[in-house]
Amino acid sequence: MKYIDEFRAKDLAVKLTGAIAAAAYPGRTYNLMEFCGGHTHAIFRYGVQDLMPANVNFVHGPGCPVCVLPTGRIDGAIHLAEKYGVTLCTYGDLLRVPAGKRRTLMKSKADGADIRMVYSTMDVLKIARNNPEKQVVFFAIGFETTTPPTAVAIKQARAEGLKNFSVYGNHVLTPAAIQHILQSPEVRELNSVSIDGFFGPAHVSSVIGSRPYEYFAEEFQRPVVIAGFEPLDVMQAALMLINQLNEGRYEVENEYTRVVDREGNTKAQALVADIFELRRSFQWRGLGEVPYSALKIKQAYGAFDAERRFEIPESGAGDIKGCACPAILRGAKRPTDCKLFGTACTPDNPMGSCMVSSEGACAAYWTYGRFRKGKEAAA
Ligand code: SF4
Repeated sequence: MKYIDEFRAKDLAVKLTGAIAAAAYPGRTYNLMEFCGGHTHAIFRYGVQDLMPANVNFVHGPGCPVCVLPTGRIDGAIHLAEKYGVTLCTYGDLLRVPAGKRRTLMKSKADGADIRMVYSTMDVLKIARNNPEKQVVFFAIGFETTTPPTAVAIKQARAEGLKNFSVYGNHVLTPAAIQHILQSPEVRELNSVSIDGFFGPAHVSSVIGSRPYEYFAEEFQRPVVIAGFEPLDVMQAALMLINQLNEGRYEVENEYTRVVDREGNTKAQALVADIFELRRSFQWRGLGEVPYSALKIKQAYGAFDAERRFEIPESGAGDIKGCACPAILRGAKRPTDCKLFGTACTPDNPMGSCMVSSEGACAAYWTYGRFRKGKEAAA
């Protein structure tokens, strides 16, 4: 299949493995953070880490939208469904993420709340049109990739005069999160998280372009290479990062040129800017309060903002005791550092968001089993 097969070719992978081994200086380490969960899964699915020299490490970042949503916001969504009796629509992964008191949207649904899984924002509009007597709320999450479809739905709802549709918005911003990580004491002072460079996200960058990364590449002296999601994309990007580090360059480079350019999708950006504005601060799981890291619906579209239409308390509930998701999302721990990994916590019985989402680091470790050694892995 075009654009897939050629990025999984074994002969090219062998050549790249050799090129990376030759480029990596034996006397130093290269800790490369993949911000995006899509890259984490590509690395584990195809065994890319196993092809790297011992001194080239992948550090998993917070780029999984389900994982970074704090429990309080999920409690807020459950409150909407149970207290106000709204029809709450959201994407599938979110249904199983534990919130306060180990409640989930799935359990709330089983108890009778009207919670529905949707595949697109157009599904939500359809539900609203077909149920004019019900308030229909879209529990919107995601990075810059999923924000434009939410904006389209709000515009469409206004054009149709839909009175029973609103959005509980949780759209977050990638560059603000990367900058926050680089400014964190763990990176700057304690050195407990060492990040030498970043793989820039693929889908997000197709919307925002490569330009937004330029500031912190220069300011924090960390190279960024935007990479596609196929294994050879990741390997090529790793080589580009290693070369930059060897040469003392801290630039934004683009491996994913078949999709991403410097400016991104300007139409989508204009659409989002029409409907959303920056929140002063937003709580992330793992990162805490991050200034200007999320969007809220502008006053002009306030009629479609569930946070204006309903009173939604935030519970302030923390993660389940022992769950290391927050540290994993900051790159400070690996899933196998968590005592619950593979014992109390598995994809069938997730204790934290990182084990639920198809983009979560714990799910990637568990699904592809590369942490298992010897006979166990072969079994
Ligand atoms: S293994 Fe489960 S409990 Fe541990 S960090 Fe991952 S999601 Fe949380």
